Amino acid sequence: MADILTHANTADGKKEMALLEQFAAATYTNVITNQSDLDTKDRIMDEMLSWCKEQGTIAVLKSATILSCDPTSRTVQNCKSLMLSKGIHPGQVYAATRSFILLLLASGQDDEAVKRQKGETSSSFSDQQRHLRDLVYEAVRQGVSDIHIQVRQSYSKIRMRQHGELRIYAEWSEKLGREIASVAFNKETDHATSHFNPLIPQDASMPLRVNNKDIRLRLASVPAHGGFDMVMRILATGEEKIKTLEELGYTAEQVGIIKMAIKLPFGAVIVAGPTGAGKTTTLAACMEMVEPTQKLYSIEDPVEKVVESATQVPVNTEKEDRTFASMGRAALRMDPDVIILGEMRDEDTAHVMVRASITGHLVLTTLHTNRATAIVTRLVDMGISPILLSDSSVLRCLMCQRLVPKICQHCAIPVRNSAKHQPFIAGWEAVLGQETIDQAKGRGLGCPKCYSTGVSGRTVIAEVIWVDEEGRQFIQKCDTLGWEKYLKAQGWMDFRMRAIELIQQGICDPLDTEKVIGPINMATQSTKYKYD
Ligand SMILES: [Zn+2]
Repeated sequence: MADILTHANTADGKKEMALLEQFAAATYTNVITNQSDLDTKDRIMDEMLSWCKEQGTIAVLKSATILSCDPTSRTVQNCKSLMLSKGIHPGQVYAATRSFILLLLASGQDDEAVKRQKGETSSSFSDQQRHLRDLVYEAVRQGVSDIHIQVRQSYSKIRMRQHGELRIYAEWSEKLGREIASVAFNKETDHATSHFNPLIPQDASMPLRVNNKDIRLRLASVPAHGGFDMVMRILATGEEKIKTLEELGYTAEQVGIIKMAIKLPFGAVIVAGPTGAGKTTTLAACMEMVEPTQKLYSIEDPVEKVVESATQVPVNTEKEDRTFASMGRAALRMDPDVIILGEMRDEDTAHVMVRASITGHLVLTTLHTNRATAIVTRLVDMGISPILLSDSSVLRCLMCQRLVPKICQHCAIPVRNSAKHQPFIAGWEAVLGQETIDQAKGRGLGCPKCYSTGVSGRTVIAEVIWVDEEGRQFIQKCDTLGWEKYLKAQGWMDFRMRAIELIQQGICDPLDTEKVIGPINMATQSTKYKYD
């Protein structure tokens, strides 16, 4: 304090005062030097506090008034942009002494105090917007994919899905959960006209700027007995770079096959897998491998990540002329080299895929099936003839993927020491051998590094098929069993074999793996069952 008070009489202090007075004169205002120059109720604005503290030269008050000891600097402009991004309209800028600004900043609630307030019901409107941002920011920081808000008569439960698993994040009052849901829908979504109604299913997309990051979320809600559920899916965190196929978990050999297919001038590359298996991420990685000299059209629902090298066309499944199929046909008229169809949902889109390949384009797309070979049967089921599918210009590379949790290596335990794994060890050992089980690790109890989940991210387990001449014969006959037998004889790696590799390397827990791809011990599946 003493330092601050004496500062005004030093040479620097006098120089500062002169500059501030100059600004005040030019803007017909006064230099603010203490609280009595302000409206008595005006205090520091919590939303801007941490940013202002970082700057140290500026303070924003609850009335949106901006105080700066360097009022002509860029910091003031940055401050205004940040306020606008938070939905706050910037007020008048005043020159103020640095000592007073520092005093104000010190009087504001620090982040810890704000956090302690979380869960309290008495809050003004912008407090809920702040709560929402805190929640989303925390989710993004922890690498969460979905935020579940379950609002019931007497409570709200907040859960987060991370690495595919749900865990409880917080329990709030019913009122706060309801307010956060309304504020998200009514104040933050793209459709400014939409109004949150917990009695009907609703969905919307929400762009949110938090701590200088552009985060995109998709909101969906359904009514439930005693309340409603809302799920916020995090589509983009504003800082992710597109991962390579190797980083996602594809083996070097598999990547080699995919690269070979993408270099071809025409044909289809299809990524299959169940919902939530990361197909879109893989598609984005493939998109990155397309030569920049190629004209690329990407039909997406919705456009999640902006890719500069592509023309990204959004789909609106509710409008007949804006579906995957119609936008795909439209893209075909635009002289493309490569077409990406975000999803083959229906017969129409499947026909677009075939037509695009046959007319000399490379097509990348996704499909819901559980195995790579099943892509063929699914397409036949969608009305594409096996003869057409076995044409050498159509199917080139078929991929299928699942996501399996990766063990947090900081708290992993050998499966031999884990009680949870004991009942299964003999069965695994019979198939995988003693050595593999000696090396295998299981998920531990969790540590601070993995937010007590025992997991650090997920890896892809994939099957990748290069469609060769022999393969086409099996496709024509729709003989997936014969085809798989042929592939295995060529040394092809199916889900199970890849899973065993990951268990051997101590990357995945055998129990997690079995949950995703079924029993490792094939005997369980093929043994004849003896009925008594
Ligand atoms: Zn851990």
